[in-house]
Amino acid sequence: MSDQKFILAGVMGHPVAHSRSPVIHNHWIAQYKLRGSYVLLPVEGGNLGDALKGLKALGFAGCNVTIPHKVEAMKAMDWLHPVAKQMGAINTIVVQPDGALHGFNNDGFGYIQSIKDAKPDWQANAGPITVLGAGGAARAMVLSLINEGATQIRLINRTKSKAEALAHEFGSAVKVVDWSERNQALANIAMLVNTTNQGMHGQPELEIDLTDLPKSALVSDAIYIPLETPLLAQARTRGNTTVNGLGMLLNQARPAFNAWFGVLPEITPELHKAIAATF
Ligand code: NAP
Repeated sequence: MSDQKFILAGVMGHPVAHSRSPVIHNHWIAQYKLRGSYVLLPVEGGNLGDALKGLKALGFAGCNVTIPHKVEAMKAMDWLHPVAKQMGAINTIVVQPDGALHGFNNDGFGYIQSIKDAKPDWQANAGPITVLGAGGAARAMVLSLINEGATQIRLINRTKSKAEALAHEFGSAVKVVDWSERNQALANIAMLVNTTNQGMHGQPELEIDLTDLPKSALVSDAIYIPLETPLLAQARTRGNTTVNGLGMLLNQARPAFNAWFGVLPEITPELHKAIAATF
């Protein structure tokens, strides 16, 4: 029997049963012939503090944190990465040898990497970017676009006050546009980003008219169920390059896996196949 240490990690949230993270991490554990397991950790709100304290005692190398704990879990961290502080949320915890909990947010990294994977010559400052939505995903995606050099972001949300709050926090690169003007806000842009849940499985499709969208614009959607949302299908049909949300999910997992298992894993066609088999 190997004397290699058995490493545990998981995803803490509620609900978590739908999470694709176990498929991703357990695929890598098998691919790199490591000893370990990545498990679902369904934890309800009131138990979050106790559950996080238990990570060290249970021998976990760390865990991902998902809805509804991404903000609340920050309070239990002994140290926060500057990007996590800036985002006001964490998605990854790494347990240190002394039991200290370190919090990270790799969502923005995952998003930018997914865009670069799809379009290696992509530049954040190539032109205006229209972002739809102002929830948790928008927060990570808009901040990472700004950190990457974006200077003209048109932020549009059904509830305008939420977009205004983000714009206030993120500074002059972000200008708020009314939800009713979203079609016109597609003119002259280099990129359209959907961060709303519209178009996700079980939700109505996003109501938008792409007539004014330049054919050269990149269209990205945070959604990965389905892999091609009606927005992406429509954009692809008219000739736009499209990027779905799966690349963001896969790329945010890489640095977390590296921190827990000591291997920076690759995103292979086999991994894509394993994920596709779960849809
Ligand atoms: P969230 O915080 O709940 O935000 C939801 C957003 O959708 C808000 O901007 C909300 O607008 C908007 N919305 C909801 N119903 C709408 C409607 N009928 N018309 C127009 N806008 C509507 O959710 P989230 O965490 O940001 O997640 C958003 C999407 O991103 C989900 O589909 C999620 O699966 C996906 N996501 C993907 C990844 C990835 O790794 N690929 C990571 C995170 C999230 P209001 O403010 O007006 O309610």
